[in-house]
Amino acid sequence: MVAPRSTHATANARSGQIGVAVWSRLEALAEGWRSLSDLTDRETWNDPAVQSCAGLIDNAQSIAVLTGAGVSAESGIPTFRDALTGLWARFDPTQLATPEAFAADPALVTRWYDERRVACARCRANAGHLALAELERRSKAAGCRFRLITQNVDRLHQLAGSSDVVELHGSLWDWRCTHCGEQREERAVPFAEYPPRCHCGGPRRPGVVWFGEPLPSEAIAAAWAAAEDCDLFLSIGTSGQVEPAASLARVAAQTGARLVEINPQPTTQSDVVDLVMRGPSGALLPLVLAALDAC
Ligand SMILES: [Zn+2]
Repeated sequence: MVAPRSTHATANARSGQIGVAVWSRLEALAEGWRSLSDLTDRETWNDPAVQSCAGLIDNAQSIAVLTGAGVSAESGIPTFRDALTGLWARFDPTQLATPEAFAADPALVTRWYDERRVACARCRANAGHLALAELERRSKAAGCRFRLITQNVDRLHQLAGSSDVVELHGSLWDWRCTHCGEQREERAVPFAEYPPRCHCGGPRRPGVVWFGEPLPSEAIAAAWAAAEDCDLFLSIGTSGQVEPAASLARVAAQTGARLVEINPQPTTQSDVVDLVMRGPSGALLPLVLAALDAC
């Protein structure tokens, strides 16, 4: 990860696809974390797309990673839409995830978010989370800048060991008093009352970004700086449709960065990235790490 940018040799592997032969192996890996020593099957991690991705990482001096709901889904975290089931099926997001909804019925809104906390508390970081934490450690040890930007609010990246995570949409675990503004992480589930109360008596709300609210300015600035500064941008588990995700990838591309997409389905940016890897990040990222070992 110390080679100059001019040595980007493998970046032309546009639209590389994981071969059919490795799919059974990938599906097995997707079940959970396997140690890298298990990945001795060269047929598996010698796949051209995996090799290309490893080559891009090996040559990068500044890496920015953007993760989206797909990475959380691999841990069993329900997407926002999927969470609107059962007793909540009769609600739409604007009734639960807006400042107006909280003002109208803080007990209802915080109960829904508490159920999401309970669901998240049952989930664990997956192999993709762990691989990104490992990639951060390796990158920094090699003198390569590494920034992780996420649209996810579950904090599984931090649980996996990632540091300095930029949370574009806030966190489900941080709760803020709407009277005195005190914010703190609340890990114990469930709450005893709705809405949960601050020591000052004020109702507390989740530290997530609601519809109609601006994204945290510090997070936006950090994400923008990472995109402008990087020479490799990895877009993982995100459709690329939600802003500022689409803009971040575009900014990175405009400054000359290579773009890699890791996602099971095609996205709006699939046609413009340098390398596409189709599959779950929990299967592909460990393979990339294994391939990096051979670089
Ligand atoms: Zn308070």
